[in-house]
Amino acid sequence: MTTLRDESTLPFQNLELVHGWGLSTDAVGYVFRPSTVEGIQEVFNLAQRTGRTVAFRGAGRSYGDAALNAENVVLDLTRFCRILAWNPHTGVITMESGVTIQQLWQYALPDGWWPPIVPGTMFPTIGGCASMNIHGKNNFAVGPIGDHILEFEILLPTGEPLTCSRQLNSDIFFAAIGGFGMLGCFTSITLQLKKVYSGHLNVEAINVPNLDAMMQEFEQRMDDADYLVGWIDGVAGGKGIGRGVIHEANYLKPGNDPNPAQTLRIEHQQLPDTIFGLLPKSTLWRFMRPFVNNLGVRLVNTAKFYASRLLDRGKIFQQSHAAFAFLLDYVPNWKRSYGRGGLIQYQSFVPESTAAEAFKAQLRLAQKAGYPPYLAVFKRHRRDNFLMTHSVDGYSLALDFKITKRNRAAIWKLAAQLDEVVLKAGGRFYFAKDSTLHAASAEQYLGREAVEQFMALKRRCDPNGLLETNLYRRLFPETEAGAKKEQFTQTNAVTP
Ligand SMILES: Cc1cc2nc3c(=O)[nH]c(=O)nc-3n(C[C@H](O)[C@H](O)[C@H](O)COP(=O)(O)OP(=O)(O)OC[C@H]3O[C@@H](n4cnc5c(N)ncnc54)[C@H](O)[C@@H]3O)c2cc1C
Repeated sequence: MTTLRDESTLPFQNLELVHGWGLSTDAVGYVFRPSTVEGIQEVFNLAQRTGRTVAFRGAGRSYGDAALNAENVVLDLTRFCRILAWNPHTGVITMESGVTIQQLWQYALPDGWWPPIVPGTMFPTIGGCASMNIHGKNNFAVGPIGDHILEFEILLPTGEPLTCSRQLNSDIFFAAIGGFGMLGCFTSITLQLKKVYSGHLNVEAINVPNLDAMMQEFEQRMDDADYLVGWIDGVAGGKGIGRGVIHEANYLKPGNDPNPAQTLRIEHQQLPDTIFGLLPKSTLWRFMRPFVNNLGVRLVNTAKFYASRLLDRGKIFQQSHAAFAFLLDYVPNWKRSYGRGGLIQYQSFVPESTAAEAFKAQLRLAQKAGYPPYLAVFKRHRRDNFLMTHSVDGYSLALDFKITKRNRAAIWKLAAQLDEVVLKAGGRFYFAKDSTLHAASAEQYLGREAVEQFMALKRRCDPNGLLETNLYRRLFPETEAGAKKEQFTQTNAVTP
């Protein structure tokens, strides 16, 4: 690690180009990678002395600018990754915040425990997940990760360490979870894991002809299902708008797996190294590249939809937890198939009563503009009581758009139209996925009262305004961050 010296400028050897995960935005920042709480504190001190702000960064799996901090300090927590305490009888685990979801499941599964909530990839850190209050394909049943966090330690920019739980400092507990790193650095997180009796899930695929049918299936199944997720063909229009395939997965009950000791082993969970036993996975994104355009996606989606209609009917099969949960990790670097400009993901959350019309309108707008989403994923959610929540009692639709130099401005314009649909429908947005939202829309969905409450807590935890990110400056320009924003050049902002 770089030695921190008392100096008015930051060491230039720490300058790095840092990307948002979707590769459509980046910013140069001074990156530090401490491995202890004292090291984090030292970075805070250095930033204060040199008049810079600090952004925390986990594994950098947020699609946009949530973990970027142009011309300022980026505090990367990936080396801060020790498991601090584990009870294999109760499934309660305490970890440093740089522990990844991969580390966590591989550690706990052989004892029969699985993370209660996982994202679609296993590489994020637990600190990044808490900070965004991530949801899984089981959000409708068990809520976001915050609902399973028992306690955390947070280091405030003032240097004060705080323990927070539903009983202790509960206002900070409900605001820092989902607080996108703006109140302090999670230094340890205590999580209740989920008991599992097999390394397998029972999985069923259900082919549906349109969005109404997809929602009907979700509503019928959600009382009994453990996981539900829908893939939508974003290119299909007309009566088939929103057609796709739902996957329902359920835990095996005690005694259903004849050999749990075997299936709970890490080796049993591993994703295969080759596709069809031949192609090394690491090269697959290159083969995908010719299909990542309107015509290619139409061909692939049509083939996928009809193949599932033929093959999937009523079929239940078993899949390992890792294979079901981390489907996107099957193809390493798949984002590179989108080309140099990368991609953005536009995910919005809409109440159940308005979701069907809102999401059909979004798909139509995207198709009419000539930019159908190349991947579209549908999930069911429930409400939670975290201050900056993205969730609703309803549905989310996540749409992936390819970004090029030529289409960038048009996609941002399209996103603003999609925002209007969401706001009219009483919906919400998600900072982990966001690249395009405007400040006024952020305030509209969060509500002025919640924003003011959050900012009051921020002033209490971070009185000198040390913590900022590019996303914070973009979405909350009315705060102290707004004043500083003027100093930033055009290239630092996530604008087309
Ligand atoms: C392929 C893919 C699939 C995904 N699927 C899902 C999904 O199904 N559900 C879902 O909810 N999300 C999903 N995500 C988003 C991802 O889970 C979130 O963006 C998550 O926050 C990433 O964690 P990270 O460690 O990479 O954090 P980063 O992206 O590095 O940072 C995220 C935020 O956390 C803050 N932060 C990081 N560490 C700390 C800390 N120790 N203390 C305080 N703040 C901190 C950062 O400042 C930033 O604001 C997906 C992302 C990808 C790339």
